[in-house]
Amino acid sequence: MPASKPVYRGRFAPSPTGLLHFGSLVGAVASYLDAKSHQGYWLVRIEDIDPLREQAGASDAILRSLEAHHLYWDEKVTFQSHHQERYEFQLQQLRQKKLIYACPCSRKQLHANHGLHLDVCRNRKVAFVENVAIRFGVSNQNEGYHDLIQGPTTYHLRQEIDDFVVKRKEGFYAYQLAVVCDDVAQGITHVIRGIDLVDSTPLQLQLYRGLDTRPPAFGHFPVVVTDDGSKLSKQKLSPALNPQTVTQNLTLAGAALRLIDKDEQTPDKPEELLQWMVSRWSRSPLKGIKQLPSPFTASQQTVN
Ligand code: GLU
Repeated sequence: MPASKPVYRGRFAPSPTGLLHFGSLVGAVASYLDAKSHQGYWLVRIEDIDPLREQAGASDAILRSLEAHHLYWDEKVTFQSHHQERYEFQLQQLRQKKLIYACPCSRKQLHANHGLHLDVCRNRKVAFVENVAIRFGVSNQNEGYHDLIQGPTTYHLRQEIDDFVVKRKEGFYAYQLAVVCDDVAQGITHVIRGIDLVDSTPLQLQLYRGLDTRPPAFGHFPVVVTDDGSKLSKQKLSPALNPQTVTQNLTLAGAALRLIDKDEQTPDKPEELLQWMVSRWSRSPLKGIKQLPSPFTASQQTVN
């Protein structure tokens, strides 16, 4: 019997550190269109593992904003704050394989060593106690993959990024670990996200290898930047999307993703516009592009 093609499972994974702004809408739309144009599932996961950065009410507001833009998810929304046992289990797997170590280095100490760990630190065998960060020891080889949007991508992790934290000294599981554990548990086959996260991909590939799990395919689309070249972000208080202008917001997102030409006639209804964009979606116009200019004027970009 011929093997059936694996079902495409994609996701959008916002952190509830603020409201959905135009940059994050572009991310939601890109991952949605990529999934839907491959007859795939599109899941939403709220990445609320960092209570220190979370904004009260943001999770709910993000979900309502996605719904307002007719971006409906295919399975129940999941929350990282509910998955602590999953992260601990995988952390113990990595520990058994001696791929992680407890690291008491302060940022200052690492800075003195150009931000890199010496082998002595890896081999120090510090006890896994509270208040000490846990790091994954990256390999000394190149880590490469074929990015679905950016093309071939290679890193030398020891020199370029170094061992990364999987559990913070404050006791929180770190983003890299949580995202991999959840993508594995949810059977994610395609991760389509902003290029601001591209440096995380080789680290996550190391975790997949450490957990003996096949990684998903990754594609990183360009991020929307302001006139001065900085990324639209929740931290910079980029304005929340206006729920009164849903079609316009989606049209601008489609234009930023190079799906709609200037002055082109597009459907007026958001659900039809999304369908229309699904039928046109292609990764190729974004190939090799790192930044997309914001369609907003400078004064609209930040809330003072
Ligand atoms: N939670 C991350 C963010 O909001 C995205 C993680 C991911 O897509 O891998 O930036």
